[in-house]
Amino acid sequence: MPNSYRPDQIIRPEILALSAYHVPPATGMIKLDAMENPYPLPSVLRDEIARLTANAPVNRYPDASAASLKAALRQALAVSDEMDILLGNGSDEIIQIIAMAVARPGAILMSVEPAFVMFRMIATFANIQYAGVPLKKDFSLDLEAMLAAIEKHKPAVIFLAYPNNPTGNLFDAGAILSIIQATPGIVVVDEAYHAFADASLIDQLSQYPNLLLMRTLSKLGLAGLRLGLLVGRPEWIMQLEKMRLPYNVGIMTQLIAEKVLHHTDVLLEQAETIKSERTKMNTYLGTIKGVEVFPSDANFILFRIHKASQIFQALKQRKILIKNLDGTHPLLENCLRVTVGTSDENSQFCETLHTLLSETV
Ligand SMILES: *Cc1c(COP(=O)(O)O)cnc(C)c1O
Repeated sequence: MPNSYRPDQIIRPEILALSAYHVPPATGMIKLDAMENPYPLPSVLRDEIARLTANAPVNRYPDASAASLKAALRQALAVSDEMDILLGNGSDEIIQIIAMAVARPGAILMSVEPAFVMFRMIATFANIQYAGVPLKKDFSLDLEAMLAAIEKHKPAVIFLAYPNNPTGNLFDAGAILSIIQATPGIVVVDEAYHAFADASLIDQLSQYPNLLLMRTLSKLGLAGLRLGLLVGRPEWIMQLEKMRLPYNVGIMTQLIAEKVLHHTDVLLEQAETIKSERTKMNTYLGTIKGVEVFPSDANFILFRIHKASQIFQALKQRKILIKNLDGTHPLLENCLRVTVGTSDENSQFCETLHTLLSETV
């Protein structure tokens, strides 16, 4: 029998070098770290879902094309007939499908820095080279630097989140359109936080053949279902569709998402509540001395604070879990990110933060 390989002898070195995406345990915590919608669905709707799932034929594979769900999405998002839809097990999977599809030798996947970390991580998974262009200090797009990087790298794909995570701001739409026009490859505009922003580039799809638009139901209140979608021209979607694993969207997700999509008013009302809580929180944080708050068009708020890592730990000890971004990028020095939760959760967070600061002064 030959000697068997150790992991480091057969796993790609760039995978060995990665650290796994860390999801911290949150039992018993006020969970404000993952941009989840804090509100449950109304009980009438939950009862309907219970009946629907009780009768689901789970012994069968789900509809591979998810035709019925797609029709509901098309209607809910007002997707034009000229565009096709690709479904993913969360939009994370769609990023992965795109990255794998374009990963020809020498190809480049580009984004900005700081951006959604999965862009970079998935580039590594898919064995495609990553190029990150720093944002300006105020987290706006550095259009000049982007255009220069596009000229230099000729990226196969550019990912831009609109609004951006972890900074929360909307980039200038004109700058994004300039990037779309300047790049020979595709531009994926990731609108994960669309429900909390008063802007979208979905209407630009018909103007720009290299534009693809991504959405997810996760931040809207269905994070547990795992459903993301990509909208774009049939010639792109058709190619990407070949790489989608046939049953990537399970029957429960199909049934429940379709049902909830017939009641989008419920989710949109919750999004409105979250937006007004965001305003309250932003105003409050702005009044605390030593806190620099950044404006947000998403369901989270980024802020800078002295000794951020210590504050993060102290909050955690008091059972409040947010996200520590200190040390993840030079522009995010001493930055923390808090998801907008329920009114109670937000008050607890704000009061605890206030107390901590008055203790350490
Ligand atoms: C949360 C997030 C996603 C991932 O969403 P899923 O659909 O849950 O995989 C994608 N893009 C951005 C910018 C996000 O913040």
